[in-house]
Amino acid sequence: MSASDKQPLIAAIEAGGTKFVCGIGRGPHEILDTHRIETTTPEETLEAVSRWLSKAKAEHGHFEAIGVGSFGPVDLDPKSETFGYITTTPKPGWQHTDVVTRLKNRFKVPVGFDTDVNAAVLGEYLWGAGQGIDPLVYITVGTGVGGGVLVNGRLLHGALHPEIGHLAVPPPVNSLAVQRECQCPFHRSCVEGYVCGPAIARRWGVRADSLPLEHPAWEEIADVMAHALMNLTLTLSPRRIILGGGVMEQPQLIPLIRGRLMHHLNGYLLIPQTGREIDSYIVSPGLGARSGLLGSLALGRMALDASR
Ligand code: ADP
Ligand code: ZN
Repeated sequence: MSASDKQPLIAAIEAGGTKFVCGIGRGPHEILDTHRIETTTPEETLEAVSRWLSKAKAEHGHFEAIGVGSFGPVDLDPKSETFGYITTTPKPGWQHTDVVTRLKNRFKVPVGFDTDVNAAVLGEYLWGAGQGIDPLVYITVGTGVGGGVLVNGRLLHGALHPEIGHLAVPPPVNSLAVQRECQCPFHRSCVEGYVCGPAIARRWGVRADSLPLEHPAWEEIADVMAHALMNLTLTLSPRRIILGGGVMEQPQLIPLIRGRLMHHLNGYLLIPQTGREIDSYIVSPGLGARSGLLGSLALGRMALDASR
């Protein structure tokens, strides 16, 4: 029997606005199966998830818990009547969708629930680029921008949960962007409105993944990101910040962001993280695109532990 056989079998669901990724396994080295489901209506999508989980259970055995890392905003307050719901999301049709109850009723196991990015930061903390590093922040820059925060060994919840994508930043200057404005429908100048994939495409008139390496857009994107990281550095005092998501696959971005962050901080913080150790302060995910799914598995494990 290998060490991982001792870990319970868990079902994991990474619930995204574009796709749901489901998996079944015991840990990062033992994922037995995964499956991708396009996000359509809540009914159709959640039914497809349940069907796949039933099939996975028949093939791989009884899972003892389910972990869900979801797009949001979500209700994480166990005392709330709408705990386990996706709440006021702008995603059409998904407002006030109960995710947890139907999984609980159907599979009769504990269900762990958190934001997709809190799941990702947990995954990275346990098995990725942030092992044992606390406070730890994980930010994804993809279809949207979001961030998860782990402090004192726990995922940060509060009146809601961190909404790092909408931190206010100064409007970029000297922009050559076709359309200069922040693209967020809620805010005049927030991170997501400048640097999420769709905002980049609208502002520069070219798909984010087709902008050439030397395009001035990257300098601007790095500058906006660096403002957000400066604010996070000053408020949360993290020991590491992990940057993931499709847009961050551009290899030139992280070095540019590190440079701009040091520039904006202007020597104010006399800590190695924003000086000689900047390369290990701002890093890529250790789990690649799997942080969210593995973190969701960890949420399931935590729910199981809490139920015992
Ligand atoms: P999601 O946020 O939906 O989970 P991703 O993190 O893959 O998915 O983000 C998708 C967004 O990232 C799209 O807007 C896409 O244009 C952009 N993107 C994906 N890959 C790249 C890349 N290599 N360079 C720049 N942008 C990218
Ligand atoms: Zn915004």
